[in-house]
Amino acid sequence: MKNVVIASNNAHKVSEIESALDFEGWTFQTLREAGVDSDPEEDADTFVGNARIKARAAHAITGGAVLADDSGLEVDALDGAPGVLSARYAGTHGDDAANNAKLLRELSGVPDEARTARFVCALVFIDEDGTETTARGTIEGRIGHEPAGENGFGYDPLFVPDVFGGKVTLAQVPASEKNAVSHRGNALRALREKIQATAH
Ligand code: IMP
Repeated sequence: MKNVVIASNNAHKVSEIESALDFEGWTFQTLREAGVDSDPEEDADTFVGNARIKARAAHAITGGAVLADDSGLEVDALDGAPGVLSARYAGTHGDDAANNAKLLRELSGVPDEARTARFVCALVFIDEDGTETTARGTIEGRIGHEPAGENGFGYDPLFVPDVFGGKVTLAQVPASEKNAVSHRGNALRALREKIQATAH
């Protein structure tokens, strides 16, 4: 048996992680479920750096296996912004509507072919013995001109992935289809393979 504490309280992420890392005997808990109060400052300038900060802070408290993720949107025409500031691009943490409105403003007048972007997800897994395993996943696409779709969260209504014919936003596909191609899904599949390769 192995209990992995996920350094997040986001229920959606937890269920996606649970189904991706379906190793026998592994169980998962959020920080809250584990009774762990950990909220370190995420002041690294890379996704993996911030995931590592969260993973190490949780591991320092639990001493057991932990998994942290950090993710965001990189827009080429904005030199990679909003990047690690994705959640608080417009100022208030997690205000998706304001973040999307700011993104559209920043890209006004930018033509379709220059609106290329990607979601990035970095994962850091720390085992009981302190061994760290990192993985990264991306999904390429473009930023649309207006929000479309009701599913998902964050920038999904503006992000048109190259897959699915480059015609729908990530908010217009069901969660299962998004997970099959998403940055977080790809990072989880990469992490699964790395963990499997090192298992005895
Ligand atoms: P965090 O990794 O939970 O801190 O997410 C950072 C921010 O990146 C979120 O608040 C969203 O704005 C954005 N983001 C990360 N993953 C996604 C996604 O799958 N869809 C839409 N936005 C995302």
